[in-house]
Amino acid sequence: MKAPAGLQPRVYGAIEAGGTKFVCAVADADHRIIEQQRFPTTTPAATLQSVTDWYAGVTTRTGPVAALGIASFGPLDLDLASATYGQLLPTPKAGWSGTDLVGPLQRALGCPVGLDTDVNAAALAEARHGAGRQARAVAYVTVGTGIGAGIVIGDAPVHGRLHPEVGHISLRRDPRDLGFAGHCPFHGDCLEGLASGPAILARWGCSLDQLPAGHDGPAIIANYLGQLAANLALTCAVDRVVFGGGVMGTPGLLELVRATARRQLNGYLQHACYGDAIHELVVEPGLGTLSGIRGALLLAEQAWIEAQASA
Ligand code: ZN
Repeated sequence: MKAPAGLQPRVYGAIEAGGTKFVCAVADADHRIIEQQRFPTTTPAATLQSVTDWYAGVTTRTGPVAALGIASFGPLDLDLASATYGQLLPTPKAGWSGTDLVGPLQRALGCPVGLDTDVNAAALAEARHGAGRQARAVAYVTVGTGIGAGIVIGDAPVHGRLHPEVGHISLRRDPRDLGFAGHCPFHGDCLEGLASGPAILARWGCSLDQLPAGHDGPAIIANYLGQLAANLALTCAVDRVVFGGGVMGTPGLLELVRATARRQLNGYLQHACYGDAIHELVVEPGLGTLSGIRGALLLAEQAWIEAQASA
């Protein structure tokens, strides 16, 4: 949904809050980024102070932001009825559990704030403006320091009691990979424990693209990611799974993921994207590395529209 013509605000704020950096932007009503800055993720107090100081400076030039969207690492409390809405739930990121992301920024910027997971926001941006434009249901998967997936069905990110935590599902083990216990502190050999960057490093001592030619590593990782794509198709009927994140930069990996997904589905789902046209199901981001920040801008726009409706 776009803001009605004639009622468009001047600028939106957007934050992509990650475990290593916070990317902050101010954009116009058409989501063109006017100014952007990144800050290392240190302590919550210092990081949020850097962010609010930056906005205080930028908005002297752009005018105040009409609304702010935050696309954050998680897990997050997104339940509007909860006393701890807007806070990080217990997270492996040291010092950040219980941090209130919404309150301090809402007070500092004096505007409505929209919040969702980084992957839900990225899925929304890919669905509206990127690789998922022609799709009915879109998943965005990031494979990097961790593994997460956001899912957008009917233009809305999926939320339940919490939000999807697809990175921690269990999968069938690759027979070439039975000696590795897995790297997740909660589950051992869940998807993230098997296929994230740290799991690859723990198993083979280097990243996938540093392995010698002919090594089974890429095929093993692709097996797990292909199973994920097939499971997303089977559970949520997604017709697009967008794979982003550092691990996906490995040459040839996406093609191997497609082959596994197709083999896993084995002709069961009756649409070309699950068979001969599997390249339409398993795709790279259409927005490059901008899916997250573009998604945060969509959250800002949504927060602004909701604030207008309730005013
Ligand atoms: Zn896990």
